[in-house]
Amino acid sequence: MSLMALEHLSGEHPLIKLGSLEEVFDAHILGINPNLKRWPRDLNKELIETLDRALSPIPNHRPSMEEINEQLKSAFTGPRVLLATNQEKLADSLEDASRKAKSLWALNQNEAAISILKNNLQIDPFQADLWYYLTKWEWDLLSEYMSSPDFDMNTFTEKSKCICAYAFRARILDEKYSQKNHEDYKFINLILPQMAAQEFITKKNMDGYYKWGREFLSEQRNWLNNQEVKIVESGGPVRCLCVKCGEIKMHITMRCPRCGFLPTEMIDIYHTYTLRIEALKFSGTNEEPPYWQKMNYLKKLGKNISKTIYDLCKDQNDKDYYNRFVQNEGKFLYQAINFRGSKDEMDSIKEQLAEMNIIRHPRKTNLKDKIRNIFK
Ligand SMILES: [Zn+2]
Repeated sequence: MSLMALEHLSGEHPLIKLGSLEEVFDAHILGINPNLKRWPRDLNKELIETLDRALSPIPNHRPSMEEINEQLKSAFTGPRVLLATNQEKLADSLEDASRKAKSLWALNQNEAAISILKNNLQIDPFQADLWYYLTKWEWDLLSEYMSSPDFDMNTFTEKSKCICAYAFRARILDEKYSQKNHEDYKFINLILPQMAAQEFITKKNMDGYYKWGREFLSEQRNWLNNQEVKIVESGGPVRCLCVKCGEIKMHITMRCPRCGFLPTEMIDIYHTYTLRIEALKFSGTNEEPPYWQKMNYLKKLGKNISKTIYDLCKDQNDKDYYNRFVQNEGKFLYQAINFRGSKDEMDSIKEQLAEMNIIRHPRKTNLKDKIRNIFK
C-alpha cells in the first residue's frame, strides 16, 4: 500500500532506476534505499514517517492499516492545499481513458465505455488510439444491429459512414493504423470505406462512389483543420509536457493531470517551457507542420521523458538559452505559478524569487511607463 502511495506521490516507482534483478531482490529483502524514496516536500512529516515504516521489509515493524488511516485523516482535515481547485477540465491521460473504457467494455457496459471515449475526444481530439477503439466498438454494435429485426439500410449506411470517419481519424493521427501488418489493417483501410459507400457499390455507380470518397476525404480534412483552429482559439492552452512523467498538460504553470507535479524549480519551468508545442522544431522543412503532427511528436517526446530531458541538457547552447530564459520568460512564469501552488510550494517560489531579486513582473513596469507617457 505504501509502495503505491510512494509511486503515486512521487510520479515514479521507487525501484524503476535499479539496473539489475539482484538489486530489486535486495530492495525487497533489505528494504528500499532511502535515496530512492522521494516523498513530496509538502507532505506532512508524521505521515511520511508512517508511510515509510509501512515500507519496512519486516512485517512486525509496519504500522497497522488503522494507524495509517488515522494519520491520513488527520493530515487531510482542513483545506486540501495539495489539490488545486481551479484546474480546468483536462482530458484523462490516454492510458487512463483507454483502461477505464476497456474495462467497462469488458463488463458489457457498452454505452458507458463509448461515452468515456467520446468525452475524452471532445477535450482532446488528437488521440488516435481512442478513435480506434471507438471504431471497433461502434462496429461491433452495428454488426449486432445488422441482424436485428428492424434493420434499415439507410440507418446502416449513415452509421457506417460515421464509423468510417472514426477509423479515418485514427489513421491520419497515427500511422500505425495504415500499416499492412496492423491486425485491423483490412478492416480499417478497405472494408469500412466499402461498407460506408455500400449504396453506390450495390447500384454499380462507380462515379458516385469516387465522388463519395472525395467528399468524405475533404469533410475529414475540414474536421481536422477545425479541431486545430478550435484548440488554438480556446484561450491559448499551451500544451506542454510534464517534465516528471511526460504527460501532456494544458499550461506550463499548471499541475500535471496524471502525476500532480507542479514545476516550481526554475530548471523544471525551463524544461516545461522548452517542451511546449509552439517550441517544437522540425528539421528539413520550412513549412509549418499541422498541429496534430506536432501533437504526435510531443507525445513521442513525452513517452521517453527522461531521455528527452537528457537530450535537452546535452545541447551545447542549453546553458545560454537557460540564462536568457531566467532573465525573461522565467520571471513571468514564476509569478504565474505563484497563484497555483500549495502553501509550501509557494514559499519555495518566494524564496527563490527573493534570491533572484525579482520584485515585479517586468512587463507590468513597461505598461505603467506607457500609461504614464500617455498622460504626460
Ligand atoms: Zn506528470
